[in-house]
Amino acid sequence: MTLNITEQVAKVLKPIMAAKRIAVIPHINPDGDALGGMSALVDALRIKGIDARGILIQQLPSYLNELFKKDNLIFYPENFSQFSPQISIVIDSSSLDRIGDDIAYYIRHSKVINIDHHASNLNFGDFNWVDADASSVCEMIYEFIKEIDVRITPDMASNIYLGISTDTGNFTHANTSAKCMNIAAKMIACGANPNNLSMALEMSGYNRYRLLALALQSIEFYNGGSISVMPVTHHMMNKAGAVFNDTYDFIEYPRRIKGVDVAILLYENGDGLVHASLRSKGRVDVSKIALGFGGGGHKVAAGCTFNASIDKAKEDLIRAVSYND
Ligand code: 5GP
Ligand code: MN
Repeated sequence: MTLNITEQVAKVLKPIMAAKRIAVIPHINPDGDALGGMSALVDALRIKGIDARGILIQQLPSYLNELFKKDNLIFYPENFSQFSPQISIVIDSSSLDRIGDDIAYYIRHSKVINIDHHASNLNFGDFNWVDADASSVCEMIYEFIKEIDVRITPDMASNIYLGISTDTGNFTHANTSAKCMNIAAKMIACGANPNNLSMALEMSGYNRYRLLALALQSIEFYNGGSISVMPVTHHMMNKAGAVFNDTYDFIEYPRRIKGVDVAILLYENGDGLVHASLRSKGRVDVSKIALGFGGGGHKVAAGCTFNASIDKAKEDLIRAVSYND
């Protein structure tokens, strides 16, 4: 039985609206969807008189930095002791480990509400609203805001638009739906400016392109060309003078190569950890592969982290992809 939107929102509505202090928490290395959803939800709850704050463990990625108001955010660790939430709403995260140990510890005394659109979600909350048919968590946050009868401000509209557009690859990925485009159109009517947003997202320093040049030269192919791997090593990062966020969207290059079914981006963070981003053209379910290594995601876009060398991570992933093919 499929629940209609009001029934879905009802799963989390009561505890949220009964709370006085609410923390809204995105996953670590938050993307446009997690941050856009956080910001729009915090604004809407504050309009309803709830003391809501977005909780961040890192400074915002530079490509998103200018898009967010800082007043309603709490950064770890300096301001944590000043705010003890009764409810913590974790968004865009398929499991609790996605928010990091420090934040999980910080919210241990609060009830956890899980709002997410990943099929691999583990229903880790005290209350769970998981909709794998939603293009993005921002689509769900829009529905929530509508249900609580808050008028969408231009800031909320920009943030919701940002999440929907980034999670759908600018309305091109398999999760693009009539529904999400309808909501995006409404957000434009409420004040979102797609051109300004995409200009802000596109701008980056030249270091990103130096890194991209190195990464493009390093793409490797396996399984007769059906698997592409783009390694981004610590050495390449140093050589380019780049930072993690500069790898934003790099996965699109190995993904777009003809004949590739599964694209893998491996990022060596310098602390002995390797993050893998996986993309599929649809035949292979990469969320299953990521889950097998303790990660998660969607059928066509997933990720996981290895405590191993980049070569070992590559070997394990290629074996798993070939096995699932
Ligand atoms: P990306 O490759 O852009 O980092 O992530 C693609 C998708 O996989 C996103 O939906 C993201 O939430 C999910 N994902 C990425 N890395 C991880 C991870 O380490 N663990 C889990 N559970 N999901 C991940
Ligand atoms: Mn998302």
